[in-house]
Amino acid sequence: AGPVSVRAEISYVMIKPDGVQRGLVGEIISRFERKGFKLVGLKLFQCTREIAEEHYKDLSSKPFFPALVEYILSGPVVCMVWEGEGVVKSARKLIGATNPLESEPGTIRGDFAVQVGRNVVHGSDSVENGERETALWFGKDGLVAWEPTITPWLI
Ligand code: ADP
Ligand code: MG
Repeated sequence: AGPVSVRAEISYVMIKPDGVQRGLVGEIISRFERKGFKLVGLKLFQCTREIAEEHYKDLSSKPFFPALVEYILSGPVVCMVWEGEGVVKSARKLIGATNPLESEPGTIRGDFAVQVGRNVVHGSDSVENGERETALWFGKDGLVAWEPTITPWLI
């Protein structure tokens, strides 16, 4: 038996409606590109209540759950899947702590947000949730597998 092929690690990252409306899409994508992760899924999307509730189902008993679902539904989001070694944990570091008042400067939330209920961006909290959320938002065939075709010394 040869080596087992292991699927590359992926994280589901989403620019929430406030991030889109504030014109932070380019800034946020740029941070993941510069870090060195690979973009394998991307779309602007007005989501349904069903998807928003399923995405946050672990929080359904929290008092802020109804407001959270309304927030996610309040405008289009940018859905992304980033691939790379250690991307789940690294994306959480790039994004920063849930409460933006506790996020370090230099993180996305630390640089661009104040309120926990308007914290600009989502990132999967585990490898399993990276797979689950990607399947939820992009479906089975929604990602693009690609390899660079340009010679690196021309970049
Ligand atoms: P994270 O997005 O950092 O993984 P959680 O999974 O705990 O954080 O919560 C999901 C989202 O729910 C947060 O990003 C935030 O938008 C919202 N949220 C979390 N806690 C609160 C709160 N106390 N009040 C309002 N919204 C909250
Ligand atoms: Mg979470």
